[in-house]
Amino acid sequence: MTKNLQAIRGMNDILPKQVGYWQKLESLLHELMLAYGYQEIRLPIVEKTELFKRTIGEVTDIVEKEMYTFNDRNEDSLTLRPEGTAGCVRAGIEHGLLYNQIQKLWYLGPMFRYERPQKGRYRQFYQFGVEVFGLAGPDIDAELIMLTARLWRQLGLADSVILQLNSLGNLTARNQYREHLVAYLLDHYSQLDEDSQRRLKTNPLRVLDSKNSALQDILANAPKLIDHLDTESRDHFQKLCGLLENAKIAYQVNPYLVRGLDYYGKTVFEWVTDSLGAQGTVCAGGRYDNLVEQLGGKSTPAVGFAMGMERLIGLLEQVEPELPGAQLDAYLILMGAKAEQDGLALAEHLRDKLPGLKLQSNLGEGGFKAQFKRADKSGARLALILGEDEVANHTITIKWLRDEREQQTVAQAEIINYLSV
Ligand code: ATP
Ligand code: MG
Repeated sequence: MTKNLQAIRGMNDILPKQVGYWQKLESLLHELMLAYGYQEIRLPIVEKTELFKRTIGEVTDIVEKEMYTFNDRNEDSLTLRPEGTAGCVRAGIEHGLLYNQIQKLWYLGPMFRYERPQKGRYRQFYQFGVEVFGLAGPDIDAELIMLTARLWRQLGLADSVILQLNSLGNLTARNQYREHLVAYLLDHYSQLDEDSQRRLKTNPLRVLDSKNSALQDILANAPKLIDHLDTESRDHFQKLCGLLENAKIAYQVNPYLVRGLDYYGKTVFEWVTDSLGAQGTVCAGGRYDNLVEQLGGKSTPAVGFAMGMERLIGLLEQVEPELPGAQLDAYLILMGAKAEQDGLALAEHLRDKLPGLKLQSNLGEGGFKAQFKRADKSGARLALILGEDEVANHTITIKWLRDEREQQTVAQAEIINYLSV
């Protein structure tokens, strides 16, 4: 294929062979959301650029360098959504869903970030996200964590991930802490890397997030936000820890967890794994009590998380390398012009009678051997053979493809009994 017609770097096709993992994960997520009483919301993939700038923050990695932004024909600046919270809050305000109500919402869909593509990091990737509005207490923070923990158990991933927890405090506490941190980092300015020196000026808390191992000693001795919390945030955090302990959910307090988006305050958490190399965060979230008001709504407490579907599927493939596909019940072999003429109608009749039936008809003709090969490859349990004799006698021949059972020819009317067992 000519190179310029290939898919865009970092934007993946999900082929039939892999799609089983996606379907499994998606169907578990649907059931999980039903089980906890959350409702789906579907949002546009494109929003005004301004929305993301105001939500995520001007000096964040996403807004500074990761957004797919373009002018449409009207010269409006639009952006492919890099995350789901901004659009969800925008929709909630716009449709009056947030004022004086509790909303527990979820969404699933593609997000776009202009990042350097590598394993677990793509330019189009899928997030499943949950956003809850109208609840200020730690109980909902705990429920979000508990429902994700349940998902890990259902997927067989409970031993692969650990929960990291931190509190960012309220805005006043964060601002006070920022001063301590800046003073400390200025004392060590020459030892910081270029990126951290820049962040020190623009968004000093993000220095804590640095993955540079040379900085770890300096960071280890830096003042910790968790030691500078306001009373309300400290109380909230302690209650959350208590709720998690009650539910036997293990966690680690990680004082360096600050998250890359400006809207978070109080609780932040990440589920991380060491089985995926560098891209180890599979699910991340936190509380954002000020965002609704900041975007023009009435002050509304809110908390949410998003999980990266590709990273989760990467883990799933490790714990379950062979995923059993959907099993076909029967393959209908059609020999001769008459059978071809009657075969599709017979298949429709069988599907009418047995709604759950998974039946594949031979299409595109072919000799007996070729059709049998296809039947075998299809994975079907049995082959139904309609040849000239069968058409003439209103019968059908059954050949079991996976069991040692004798081939049988039965009246067409009887075939339903064989297929329903
Ligand atoms: P990271 O530190 O890995 O860049 P982030 O803080 O930018 O993550 P969030 O914005 O919190 O990520 O997104 C939530 C989740 O979405 C991440 O934990 C991750 O699982 C997934 N994710 C984020 N960016 C990508 C990407 N480019 N490709 C695949 N998954 C991603
Ligand atoms: Mg990122």
